[in-house]
Parts: sequence; structure tokens; C-alpha cells
Amino acid sequence: MHKNSVIEINPSAHKENIDFLRKTFGKKVILSSVVKGNAYGHGLKEFAEMAYSNGITHFSVFDVEEAKIIFDTLEKKVTILIMGFVADDDLDWVIENQIEFFVFERYRLAKATKIAKKLKKKAIIHIEVETGMNRTGFDLKNISKVAQYLIKEKEYLHFKGLCTHYAGAESIANYYRVTKQIEIFNKAEEIFKSLGIKPEIKHSACSAASMMFPETRMDLVRIGIIQYGFWPSTEVLVSYLNSKKKKIDPLQRVISWKSEIMSVKRVKSGEFIGYGTSYMAKDNMKIATIPLGYSHGYSRSLSNQGRVLINGKRCGVIGTINMNMLTIDVTEIDNVKKGDEVVLIGNQESLSLSVASFSDLSNMLNYELLTRISKTIPRKIIK
Ligand SMILES: *Cc1c(COP(=O)(O)O)cnc(C)c1O
Repeated sequence: MHKNSVIEINPSAHKENIDFLRKTFGKKVILSSVVKGNAYGHGLKEFAEMAYSNGITHFSVFDVEEAKIIFDTLEKKVTILIMGFVADDDLDWVIENQIEFFVFERYRLAKATKIAKKLKKKAIIHIEVETGMNRTGFDLKNISKVAQYLIKEKEYLHFKGLCTHYAGAESIANYYRVTKQIEIFNKAEEIFKSLGIKPEIKHSACSAASMMFPETRMDLVRIGIIQYGFWPSTEVLVSYLNSKKKKIDPLQRVISWKSEIMSVKRVKSGEFIGYGTSYMAKDNMKIATIPLGYSHGYSRSLSNQGRVLINGKRCGVIGTINMNMLTIDVTEIDNVKKGDEVVLIGNQESLSLSVASFSDLSNMLNYELLTRISKTIPRKIIK
């Protein structure tokens, strides 16, 4: 743990996002909180505890490591769903503790059945359908075989869910592709039905799909980015605002990332700042260094691009981001001194800074920058 910076998590902001989502989806839809990637950088353990106190009882993770952190934190009080990787060695633990998991290949189905038999416990599975993302999932042509297998092994396999994932619901450019995916998913469901077997629940929506394609909400939504207070893309935000009379963004950022100035100095006009020649002072300047760099997750792609807040003003990152330091232009800021607060994400006085607000860079930056924030930075739940 180091003290170069701190990440603050705001429970009431999360509560507002959850309330907004519940109001949008209705009471019947289960809200699964997606917490892969260290809860999108928020800190898995801290975030899960907070989300639970805000009423979340269903979590979706990528792998067993993440599932174990939630299980150790919240024990049997919540449902845990693994959407991605389970090593063979871990299947015992998963089935023993009734952790739910995606199954997207015959091998996993057979393995799960074998272990369930050994443990005398049902494996709780979600059958993933390949609908067009072309990543993981059973192809439509194999669905009837899967159905027959589930019927044959129903004492050991609990057919909890039928699911899929969309390839880019955050962009209207993918409208045709996503619509096709929905059709294929419905066909898969029909095949199960025709063979007399039904999943307990169906689910397919991530944040973007749940907002852009209401029919994808089904019984459960897997909500990542929106619960943290970020829109999956500007298109999703605009589409939401256009559907409302009051053009107000209902989401609140849950995370803040703060550091402090470690040194202030003056640089003469014509000097280069930092490594190489990526930034030259065009005037006499005042600069501040911050003890954060790419090793802490402040992406090098923000070199000469990033923005931070100091003394209630927006200031630009200059030069390249170093491993442990970055440099800020504070020429226009009076009374700036060592120890002053620096906000990398969050609010200061009347200003607010989001991860992607630096420039018109792709919104994928939200996902990437958040998950890159180093695990070693302390996470603090604020009051
Ligand atoms: C990451 C992920 C989600 C959540 O995506 P968001 O865009 O953050 O809401 C949902 N489902 C699956 C399978 C995922 O991998």
C-alpha cells in the first residue's frame, strides 16, 4: 500500500444509480452487479460490501479468483455468477459452494456433471448461446444436443439460466448485428422449449443493451459500467436523454481518485519538459509534479492529454506520463503549493472530472482506465 493517492468510494452515489436502474427495469428484473476487473477498478472487496449494503444480492464476476473474494466477504448471503473462466481444478470449489457459472462448451458440461456426481451436489449452470459475438457459447446447431444432455443429467445439473452477450449494443452502428443476436437467442429458447425443458431465468443484457434494447432485459440484467455512474457510450446517454422531458443525467460517479502535489517549480520559455521533446514551454511556466504514473494505472495515452483539478481549476497534463510521476501545467493557478489536493477523477469545488472527459477519445477509455487503476492504491468508503 502506498500513500501517493487514494481512491474514495461514495455509497450514496451508488445507491442513486441502483435506484435509477431499479426504477427503469422494474421490480421483477434481477439486478446483477458486474464486478469483474476489480469492480471496474473500484476495489472488489470494498465495492461488494458497499453494494450489498445498498441492497445488491447478485454479483457477476469473470473468474474464480473474483468469486472467492466475494464469497469470503459476503458468504452465502448473495448469489455469485461466474461469466468467464473456471479452471478444472476449481470446479470442485465452485460446485461445492453452489457458485453459478456459464457453460459454453460440451467439455465443461461433462466435467461439471462428473464433479457434481462426485460431490452429490447439483451444479448450477447457465447455458451460454453463441448468437453472433463469436467469442464463447454453444452454436444454435448444438442446442438440441445440449438440451437432451441436460434432461438426461437433470439430477446433477440445475438449468438455472439461458444467456448470451451482445457485441456492441452501445453503438447504433451495431443495431443490425444486435437485433440478429436477439433473434438467434429466441430461437435457442424455442429449441429448449420444444424438447420440454426450460431455464429458470433468461438473461442477456449488459448496461448498454438494457438501455438501448428493453426486450433484452428478460429476467436479469448484468450491469457493470452504469452502476459505477458512467455511460457505456455518449450514444447511450444521448438516446436516454432524448427519451426524457427533463434532460438530466441521472447517474452519479461512485469513484474519486485523489493525490497531492509533490513539488512545484518554474520553467523558462523554450525548455522541454520531461523525457524527450514531447512538450516545449511556449512561455515561462509554472509546473507541478504528482506522484502518480502509469505504474499506478494512469495511462500513458493521457500524455499531453489528461486533465486534473487543482485549487478548483482544470489543469492539463504536460509531457509524457512517467512510471511514477506526471507533470501538470499550473501556470495560471495562484498560491499553488506542495501538498495541495489533486483530483484525477471526481469533484473539486464546482468542477467535476470523469475518466473520459479529457478529450473526445473513445468511451472504451472509461472501462480501460478504470480497470487499470492499481490494486495497491487504498480504497476508502466515504460517509
Ligand atoms: C462485462 C460484462 C457485462 C457488463 O458490461 P457493462 O457494459 O459494463 O454493463 C455483462 N455481461 C458480460 C458477459 C460481461 O462480460
